[in-house]
Amino acid sequence: MSDTAKTLIRGARILGGEPTDVLIEGETVTATGEGLSAEGAETVEAGGRILLPGLVDLHTHLREPGREDSETVLTGTKAAAKGGFTAVHAMANTFPVADTAGVVEQVWRLGKESGYCDVQPVGAVTVGLNGKQLAELGAMHDSAASVRVFSDDGKCVDDAVMMRRALEYVKAFDGVVAQHAQEPRLTEGAEMNEGVVSAELGLGGWPAVAEESIIARDVLLAAHVGSRVHICHLSTAGSVEIVRWAKSKGWNVTAEVTPHHLLLTDELVRSYDPVYKVNPPLRTEADVMALREALADGTIDCVATDHAPHPHEDKDCEWGAAAMGMVGLETALSVVQHTMVDTGLLTWEQVADRMSHRPSAIGRLEGQGRPVAAGEPANLVLLDPDYRGSVDPAGFASRSRNTPYQGRELPGRVTHTWLRGRATVVDGNLT
Ligand SMILES: [Zn+2]
Repeated sequence: MSDTAKTLIRGARILGGEPTDVLIEGETVTATGEGLSAEGAETVEAGGRILLPGLVDLHTHLREPGREDSETVLTGTKAAAKGGFTAVHAMANTFPVADTAGVVEQVWRLGKESGYCDVQPVGAVTVGLNGKQLAELGAMHDSAASVRVFSDDGKCVDDAVMMRRALEYVKAFDGVVAQHAQEPRLTEGAEMNEGVVSAELGLGGWPAVAEESIIARDVLLAAHVGSRVHICHLSTAGSVEIVRWAKSKGWNVTAEVTPHHLLLTDELVRSYDPVYKVNPPLRTEADVMALREALADGTIDCVATDHAPHPHEDKDCEWGAAAMGMVGLETALSVVQHTMVDTGLLTWEQVADRMSHRPSAIGRLEGQGRPVAAGEPANLVLLDPDYRGSVDPAGFASRSRNTPYQGRELPGRVTHTWLRGRATVVDGNLT
């Protein structure tokens, strides 16, 4: 990795503004403005490309420990850096589950050693994600990993008493419970969104109400307890309405949407290509439009990738047997540009808000999601919005290739990423 003490980025458009120069010294941005010069600095000619704060993902599956055949902390953080991320939250559904101080500290240490991206472990809410016994939330918070986000993601904390207890527990240290909203009884045997397409294909349907009923319950519980709840991967128009209502009450509710739910619909399932099998399922065009609108107006706080790597043997099989999930770190920014920026729904400044500032604030991260300004940590991403190219998973840094965008033309490309002043990606390549 290059370890340049000084880097001068020339002609970068900070948050999409007018071209200017940015000087990085050590780990910090020390100056911004036109015509900067610095003796001995490595110069990056940005040529009017966009400079944003490093992206922060609230929802990444790094798979280590236990499923290193699909991803490791090292390969996942390399993928993150290539996608412009400087911090990711590592989900707890590993083997063993991250439900103790020992496991979260292991993931945290592996992240430190990777050097490509900060890794903030998420702790499980319940022991072994069993939904029955509260995990050692306090011990995980007090550990070296300082866990503040707790989630049984992959599974829903469906027991209302358990959810209430978790919300009460994390309140003491300003933690947040991130809920995977899926009423399990309503989704038994479900393989795709319940609707016209599922009826025609004869596949088990996953009704919107299975997601919405849990969100409605949990925003009420969060209000009752006076604690923070975060809703993972919102996927329906009805979910948006509930979150909008909860926020109008002033309750401490935040929500995320994945890039794939901003672009893809259940019509794709007609191909029976398991690359489109994901949890929550791809929904309808009307849902996609409601999600875009909600991200634009701030009802949905942030974009989170739900990067879910799987080895090909778990995806290259018949629809019914295939694992659920898609990789997303290396395409997230392009999908957001395509669906939100090129459509005029978000400015680059708002992209920085939805993909850096807000997710960092929800996770209570320090030194991430900060403004691009003198005195701030040099966690930065430089992207070329004019780039056009088709997605080639052969070039992914992720160990897995299960992208729904193979061969699809998407705009934009990350050319440089800096983690505390150190370049992790240069000209699109890992250092
Ligand atoms: Zn989930």
